[in-house]
Amino acid sequence: MKQNETLEDGHGRRFYYLRLSVTDVCNFRCDYCLPDGYQATRKAPDLSVAEAGTVMRAFAMLGTRKVRLSGGEPSLRKDLPELIQAASATPGIQRVAVTSNGYRLPSVIDTWHRSGLHQLNISIDSLDNAEFAHITGHDCLPKIRTGIDRALELGIQTKVNAVLLSDGAQARLHQFLDWLKTTPVTLRFIELMQTGDNRDYFASNHVRGSDIEQQLIESGWQLLPRALDAGPAREYVHPDYAGRIGLITPYSKDFCNSCNRLRISAQGKLHLCLFSDAGLDLRETIRTGDADALAEKVRALIGNKEVSHYLQQGNTGGTQNLSIIGG
Ligand code: SAM
Ligand code: SF4
Repeated sequence: MKQNETLEDGHGRRFYYLRLSVTDVCNFRCDYCLPDGYQATRKAPDLSVAEAGTVMRAFAMLGTRKVRLSGGEPSLRKDLPELIQAASATPGIQRVAVTSNGYRLPSVIDTWHRSGLHQLNISIDSLDNAEFAHITGHDCLPKIRTGIDRALELGIQTKVNAVLLSDGAQARLHQFLDWLKTTPVTLRFIELMQTGDNRDYFASNHVRGSDIEQQLIESGWQLLPRALDAGPAREYVHPDYAGRIGLITPYSKDFCNSCNRLRISAQGKLHLCLFSDAGLDLRETIRTGDADALAEKVRALIGNKEVSHYLQQGNTGGTQNLSIIGG
């Protein structure tokens, strides 16, 4: 296999970006994800640091430049700093990111930084302390915000993910806008996605991002060009704001045309799409430590990637909730 070839599927899409879930365990109970908390489902231990290293080496050979460690809640793993270090030491990987609920952020962010973290995504659906506690089951927003301030001091590129929820959307937008005036983070509004577990919640809370996007454009926000390894967000800037705003709208037409990521679960399954019917089990090959063999397997499987997630048609594939695959 050629080193650093770029993996391409049958629809001309190239894959520069790996989302690696390091655990499906989570301590939060977000209404749209794990409203009843984490229910133990895993059959085998999560990928070890060595196994995750093999995965990252294989993907780097296939052209992956960016790795995001996600979960469940990745910070529940005590060895997360070693996982960050393994990612940043993988030849070819230029950016290492973590997506976290941020509940331990002030006490861990310095260590993550020393381990080689470039980018941090923290999920905050509301800047109102009581509403945040209501959505997540944890009253810890001030602590998370302290951690974000520290990440910014350390020069870590910081993004905040907020799931768009219909009730109170305008009030939350105004709070976020006030914050972005002086805070240099990128806030990304994510349209709520339907999963196997949240059908009723989705039916009563889903709202399209297009209204907010229109509102932003009318108040002078300007669209930025998209980088090769960027996520699917359309990002906007405004001269009066230190922060940026992105919109991730999986229900929009052609959303999947720009797909540039693949996912590996903490059990070592390849998910060609967030809403695939099932993960493709690569654990046996991962366990051998043979990155070349793993890269060959991934290369052979990429042809099975569907052109769309078919979410618009109500498809949720085998995805009961996003904590299993890492969003
Ligand atoms: N626990 C970490 C966190 O919350 O940031 C990482 C995993 S979480 C599954 C990753 C992202 O997926 C979070 O930003 C979360 O808000 C988002 N998410 C979870 N379920 C979702 C859904 N049904 N629709 C849209 N976004 C969702
Ligand atoms: Fe946990 Fe993240 Fe799901 Fe919330 S969105 S329950 S923090 S995995």
